[in-house]
Amino acid sequence: MGTALDLLDVDASLSEEERQIRAVVRRLVDDRVRPYVAGWYEDGQVPARELAREFGKLGLLGMHLTGYGCAGSSAVAYGLACLELEAGDSGVRSLVSVQGSLAMYAIWRFGSEDQKQRWLPAMAAGEAIGCFGLTEPDHGSDPASMVTRARRDGDDWVLDGAKMWITNAPVADVGVVWARTDEGVRGFLVPMDAPGVGRQEIRRKMSLRASLTGEIALDGVRLPADARLPEAVGLRAPLSCLTEARHGIVWGALGAARDCLETALSYATTRTQFGRPLAGFQLTQAKLADMAVEWNKGLLLALHLGRLADAGKLRPEQVSVGKLNNVREALAIARQCRTILGANGVSGEYPVMRHANNLESVLTYEGTSEIHQLVIGQRLTGLSAFA
Ligand SMILES: Cc1cc2nc3c(=O)[nH]c(=O)nc-3n(C[C@H](O)[C@H](O)[C@H](O)COP(=O)(O)OP(=O)(O)OC[C@H]3O[C@@H](n4cnc5c(N)ncnc54)[C@H](O)[C@@H]3O)c2cc1C
Repeated sequence: MGTALDLLDVDASLSEEERQIRAVVRRLVDDRVRPYVAGWYEDGQVPARELAREFGKLGLLGMHLTGYGCAGSSAVAYGLACLELEAGDSGVRSLVSVQGSLAMYAIWRFGSEDQKQRWLPAMAAGEAIGCFGLTEPDHGSDPASMVTRARRDGDDWVLDGAKMWITNAPVADVGVVWARTDEGVRGFLVPMDAPGVGRQEIRRKMSLRASLTGEIALDGVRLPADARLPEAVGLRAPLSCLTEARHGIVWGALGAARDCLETALSYATTRTQFGRPLAGFQLTQAKLADMAVEWNKGLLLALHLGRLADAGKLRPEQVSVGKLNNVREALAIARQCRTILGANGVSGEYPVMRHANNLESVLTYEGTSEIHQLVIGQRLTGLSAFA
């Protein structure tokens, strides 16, 4: 998009403002992410706070939310920003998605006015970082079985349990933590320095290494009554946050795929074997053509879903169609591009293997491919095959 890859002139159906936002984010990624990200990935580190402040200055955190210092952009503009961020690295996009679409959205949608005032302006500015704790060590795809518990003690709430695989947890100031209560699942704002909160970084990831992931232990964490998100009732609440974040992923995955495709195109035109550029071989062109077709189809799908979101008509199973297709195809593109680069494809000097490895996580989080197939299957058949 905005490149030779835009075979269908999708660019022309974007507004001037959408193109401008995209250009600003692309520049930011070129300056602040691209030159460093291979090193962050290798070291398994990322300057999350520094990046959050820079993203905050540009209005990228909670950018599709309104008020409280948020930019109030369209869903399509947010999607384009995710695409550009993920062209840098899926981990960097994850920082922004978890902050804006999971943690901030939960507070914005389900929080009290006091909670919104307390957290949203600071989070929009990148001065405070949030995380979203739904997954547990023994409960991933099936969050309804969560065992983390919140019980009343006088006016207070006391939380016990553990959350696992939580993006931003090692650096977060606040966690939106979902727990079972006598009345069903509820959400709580947990200051990450509260007594009884422990966190441990998950260090040996082979994917999404430029993203901080952690486990959160909750051991008798006492919170005041107003720590509960008053409007969040039942599992529907965290699932609606996931629908928000998945929309960003529908776009984001195309960014990783675009970076792979652009790398492979450039490599194939400059590397010669048998006396001609790799791009001159029919088999290479077939690969490039098939990948470009899938990428363009994915972009049309993302744009369609983004426009539905802006019209307030996007349904969860439609987001499942986008997440399932675009992440699956992005991963296939990354792997295919890897073959075009030959041995260089496995080198950290090129971004392709990093994107491919990252996309393995993107395939799994925010609902695995299988779970999205089940969501679509349920819509088609009227039968739930989850259990
Ligand atoms: C890098 C990273 C960051 C993450 N960040 C967060 C975060 O910020 N917050 C958060 O809450 N979680 C986060 N997650 C967790 C993620 O959402 C879960 O990993 C995901 O929901 C899958 O759960 P699981 O890993 O326990 O796999 P499981 O649920 O154990 O599934 C394992 C396999 O079985 C399949 N399976 C499960 N049930 C069914 C079924 N009914 N039918 C068919 N197949 C099925 C799955 O599709 C999968 O292939 C993150 C994960 C990763 C890898």
